[in-house]
Amino acid sequence: MASGNCEPQFPPESQPTQPAKEYLMQPLPLPLSPKPYKPSDKLLGKVALVTGGDSGIGRSVCLHFAMEGATVGFTYVKGMEDVDKDETIRLIKQIKRPSSSRDPIAIAADLGNESECQRVVDEFIKEYGTIDILVNNAAIQYYTDSIDDITESRLENIFRTNIFAYFLMARFSLNHMKRGSCIINTTSVAAYRGNSELLEYSATKGAIVSFTRSFSARLVEQGIRVNAVAPGPVWTPIQVAKMPPERSTTLGCEVPMKRAAETYEIAPSYVFLASDDCSSYFTGQVLHPNGNVINVLLN
Ligand code: NAD
Repeated sequence: MASGNCEPQFPPESQPTQPAKEYLMQPLPLPLSPKPYKPSDKLLGKVALVTGGDSGIGRSVCLHFAMEGATVGFTYVKGMEDVDKDETIRLIKQIKRPSSSRDPIAIAADLGNESECQRVVDEFIKEYGTIDILVNNAAIQYYTDSIDDITESRLENIFRTNIFAYFLMARFSLNHMKRGSCIINTTSVAAYRGNSELLEYSATKGAIVSFTRSFSARLVEQGIRVNAVAPGPVWTPIQVAKMPPERSTTLGCEVPMKRAAETYEIAPSYVFLASDDCSSYFTGQVLHPNGNVINVLLN
């Protein structure tokens, strides 16, 4: 998406690693609303597995799920995200949770391969015994000047992380899901508008939309719902991971609201889709918290 004009919201920022680290970001992303969120037991007794829950949108989803009464476990990348992982665990433990909510666990994994996805599900089941909600959320993105930058190995790496993992996590989790369980996939506004700077990332996000629709149709008779969330620009580590530093200053300028979202503005969409009270008639759908990007075919 091309940048529009607006006041810079963020300083120039770029981190050399992929994934990047939330604790090094300036300003820090906001996983919780400054106006306190009012939970209402929407996920009481549920058990949720969130991939990439150490930081960004995933962290905020973990916190909102825990506030709604769920037990939450999440994945992170060992050696890169240990500090962020510890912070998410600390924040979840600070929440006043019902007695049915177990302590969180963090599972280190590179989800780009099948055996790691299987191991994550096995470890999760060993700890909690079931999966009611799977949130496929982990992803990477690379800035692209030219299609010549996109080597076969880079293409394979991004497709493995962003879409293979979503299939595989869904496949292995499904063995432990029952009627009433659900899967929520994180896609992006880039799937709908395209993004010339994030060429292969956009393609993976388009694949997630199609996967969501197709898998929802397959599971509809089993009573398992499959939906997705397609955020617009959000201030998170992925936006500064190996990005040109000047890009962060204009993040959000391209959308009509002329600003990026904070993660606490995105996580409630996941609560809505995870809660049977709110979304029992939703499957195969995508929610679009995107600052009014409506001039494209969204659904
Ligand atoms: P983030 O960097 O905080 O989260 C990405 C997560 O992916 C990390 O927590 C990391 O643990 C995980 N990850 C990366 N490589 C991995 C690997 N090989 N194996 C396992 N996990 C790996 O950034 P975020 O913005 O919160 O991203 C979360 C989701 O939101 C992603 O799917 C992203 O595409 C999507 N999204 C983000 C934005 C945005 O503007 N931030 C917009 C639309 C969609």
